[in-house]
Amino acid sequence: MIRDARYEQMSRGDLDKLQLERLKAMAAYVYDKSPFYQRAMKEKGVAPGDIQTLADITKLPFTSKLDFRDNYPFGLMAVSMDKVVRVHSSSGTTGKPVVAPYTQGDIDTWSDVMARTLATAGVTENDVLQNSYGYGLFTGGLGFHYGAERLGASVIPTGGGNTKRQILLLQDLGTSVITCTPSYSLILNETALDMGVDLRETKLRVGVFGAEPWSDQMRKDIESKMGISAINIYGLTEIIGPGVSTECPYQCGMHIAEDHFLAEIINPDTGKQLPYGEIGELVLTTLTKEAQPVLRFRTKDITSLNPEPCKCGRTHVRMSRITGRTDDMLVVKGVNVFPSQIESVLLDVEGVEPHYLIVVDRQQGFKSDYLEIWVEVSEDIFSDEMSKMEDLEDRLRSEMDSVLAISAKIKLVEPKTITRTEGKAKRVVDKSELPIL
Ligand code: ADP
Ligand code: ZN
Repeated sequence: MIRDARYEQMSRGDLDKLQLERLKAMAAYVYDKSPFYQRAMKEKGVAPGDIQTLADITKLPFTSKLDFRDNYPFGLMAVSMDKVVRVHSSSGTTGKPVVAPYTQGDIDTWSDVMARTLATAGVTENDVLQNSYGYGLFTGGLGFHYGAERLGASVIPTGGGNTKRQILLLQDLGTSVITCTPSYSLILNETALDMGVDLRETKLRVGVFGAEPWSDQMRKDIESKMGISAINIYGLTEIIGPGVSTECPYQCGMHIAEDHFLAEIINPDTGKQLPYGEIGELVLTTLTKEAQPVLRFRTKDITSLNPEPCKCGRTHVRMSRITGRTDDMLVVKGVNVFPSQIESVLLDVEGVEPHYLIVVDRQQGFKSDYLEIWVEVSEDIFSDEMSKMEDLEDRLRSEMDSVLAISAKIKLVEPKTITRTEGKAKRVVDKSELPIL
């Protein structure tokens, strides 16, 4: 169902008009209210009046994660603290956390975009939605919670963890939608099987998964194991939290809420804007945020944009699945590769479970001459003759070699040996942090 047809089905021309109007207002607002942005704009020699067309956005300064860190905690804020009703923070995957203050207006906008997002994923007010994203400082829990309530679904706020109880609740309360990280959905499924529960036989029909990179192969695996439609959702603390973009049931890219967020793709090395269709770094500008609006935030996330109207009837641009963050990229013996590409190759091979660990030698930063991949095999293969394991190992090694042009040492491990995490999965480890098996 299209919840906000007025915005979600706007013609490109009307969308451009709306975005320009909001961008102009936003540039004037931050110049006036945020000392950080006034300084940044002056340094770049741009005044609010210089924004006359959408293309003029390139005159505005970028914002980076470093700007948040250097001005920690509230240096980018555009309102006084008495207007702030809530503060979240990023999970700090890559260092010091980013703090995100919200006004009541921001919480309303966020609830609206999240309700829209869930509707886009195919959730309705008739659904029972179990929210297994972590509650607390992380934006996932409360973001989904408020959005699902606004949509009118029945929310079960389990948060992450306590997995056995989650399976019991899921059965007893008739959960039809599950929301969590893709890696946690696999833990839920494994635990269910251990308890003798086949999730395909429950009422579960949709999963809304995000907060970490995952591959299409992983999606297929989750869908067939759990008997659901697995929908990709994207968001980040700096911008608002979850709700920036999501897939519709056609699963052909994530629609960005363009009435609230203006998206650009740039070449991460030169900072130059790239045309639709080209792969590069996603840059986002908030068009309606009050407490901490952000101009041209460099997300470090690698994707591309498709402006073609979608079969679902929405006109908002679609971003492709994120291959990784620029700072996640590994350079193995000179070849650039993202962990999610390794995942795609692994999961294309039968007998492999979606649990793996990429072991590198971080002594040289993101460059490593060392690459070892630990991957779990299915029970069948593991309990079969040795030769099957050897065949599988050879097959994986040659697939890595031919698809990604990287040579990796493959280590097959018993089912359920690689550590499971309840939130974002940690796939890349340094040799020195290797768990002893
Ligand atoms: P942190 O940066 O500390 O992880 P956030 O919780 O704000 O804090 O995480 C946002 C980041 O999570 C995004 O910039 C992106 O890298 C990643 N992310 C979120 N959703 C997805 C998704 N659907 N696919 C891939 N990556 C995602
Ligand atoms: Zn669509």
